[in-house]
Amino acid sequence: MTTTATTASGIYTCPMCIGGEWKSSLGRTETLRNPANGEPITSVPHCSAEEVHAAVGAAHAAFDSWRQVPVTDRAQYMFRYREKLVAHSEEIAALITLEHGKTLDESRGSLGRGIEAVEFACSVPTLMKGETISDISSGIDSVAMRQPIGVCVGIPPFNFPAMVPLWMFPIAIACGNTFVMKPSERVPRTVVRMVELLYEAGLPAGVCNVVHGGKEVVDALLADPRVKAVSFVGSTPVAKAIYEKSGAHGKRVQAMGGAKNHLVVMPGCDLKAATKAILGAAFGCTGQRCLATSVVVAVGDAGDPLVRELSAAADKISVGSGQHPKTQMGPVISAAAQQRIASYIETGKGEGASVVRDGRGVKPHDATAGYYVGPTIFDHVRPDMRIAKEEIFGPVLSVVRAKNLEEAVSIVNSSAYGNATSVFTASGAEAREFASRVQVGMVGVNVGVPAPAAFLPFAGWKGSFFGDLHALGKDAVQFYTETKVVTSRWPAPDKDHKIAF
Ligand code: NAD
Repeated sequence: MTTTATTASGIYTCPMCIGGEWKSSLGRTETLRNPANGEPITSVPHCSAEEVHAAVGAAHAAFDSWRQVPVTDRAQYMFRYREKLVAHSEEIAALITLEHGKTLDESRGSLGRGIEAVEFACSVPTLMKGETISDISSGIDSVAMRQPIGVCVGIPPFNFPAMVPLWMFPIAIACGNTFVMKPSERVPRTVVRMVELLYEAGLPAGVCNVVHGGKEVVDALLADPRVKAVSFVGSTPVAKAIYEKSGAHGKRVQAMGGAKNHLVVMPGCDLKAATKAILGAAFGCTGQRCLATSVVVAVGDAGDPLVRELSAAADKISVGSGQHPKTQMGPVISAAAQQRIASYIETGKGEGASVVRDGRGVKPHDATAGYYVGPTIFDHVRPDMRIAKEEIFGPVLSVVRAKNLEEAVSIVNSSAYGNATSVFTASGAEAREFASRVQVGMVGVNVGVPAPAAFLPFAGWKGSFFGDLHALGKDAVQFYTETKVVTSRWPAPDKDHKIAF
């Protein structure tokens, strides 16, 4: 069933999904604009408390029968869903670009990473296997099994409209849970389309529900005692608040927060490879990635040639609308984001950093309106400057100079965040020491964006993560299931067992 509802003005009205039915919310609405040209494209509702209650109720009602669907059948739903996503991938990529602004290639790439999470969910029969000890005592066997926990909730950020939601509901549902998704109110359409496709893959009504809105809707979900687990990805202050509120309401929670990622460049490394990787890591997705490199730590004499190379290469980046095939860097999400980033650039100048490139006032090659900021590079940034410490979430790169690896590691570890970091080096010993000593969850060696594939856990440390079990990999399966240990004795009627318990 397709829900696309477009008004006479051409604006798409975003529906919610409760119990498998797509309906209009009665809540207040907000108009979203295409970041590439500022034109209105979507009317998104803020669902009422009653609507949120109904969505949780539908998920709660569907749980008992869904949890009893054999795990091998649940895997088959995921195989069919994967095929649907692949068949509709160009359509979904275009939707991501429309509502988020990133280039079509970036949209395709991030959707591909999301589909990988569905492929991971297809192996749920293997992933949910428990442990057994037979004859743990005389005539007694013990089985540890993993069981679904109930209604789970997903609260993703705006910057990956498909990938981050796909870290959440497919794995939870494959594990036998039911779900309520609350997409980012800035990019809600991609989730709506992906959940439509999930139902087209045959999912029973009520197993996946969608509500829209911001803080009020999230608060209603967290307060509902029928919700058992919360997966959150977003900024650090909100992640921390969600972690605390979920804990206070007795729910399990994984809350991924913001980031300030450092990439260390050692003398003697392959500078061309490092430059290419930094450009992609700093300016890819217009710097709106939790794995974006926002600080380069140039060690020893690596700094001057690196900054020259970076500046020359950044000059060639073609800025424009994400739909245009020539575009290498799209707009940022909103006028507010554009202003926030511009104000950080002003702050950097005021703090005394050297401006190598100022991306304010960039002229996109194919647009006259929209929310654009060009690649921006500061050199000789001190680690205590705000532009080196705070998450800007835009295409702004700070270059900090360090004497040696020791100093570089201490700069990385002085950050309040600990999401991702990389080192470019020609020395295995340097790489090993770096990987061992950094207090960061995801580490790269000669890799710009050290994003783990869906088969491994994904999360940061320190202010970048609140919780225990990470997203993706076996951690996700543990998060969405609970362990139950069954201890059994079945004495044969004709035998006189000695019972130790
Ligand atoms: P955000 O924190 O503003 O919003 C994230 C989600 O939380 C949205 O669904 C939003 O509706 C909801 N929300 C916002 N304010 C809330 C509040 N006060 N109470 C309850 N819910 C609230 O984040 P964003 O701007 O959408 O996304 C960008 C941020 O996400 C960046 O900080 C980025 O680093 C982070 N991020 C982190 C990861 C990761 O894996 N660590 C991945 C992607 C993005």
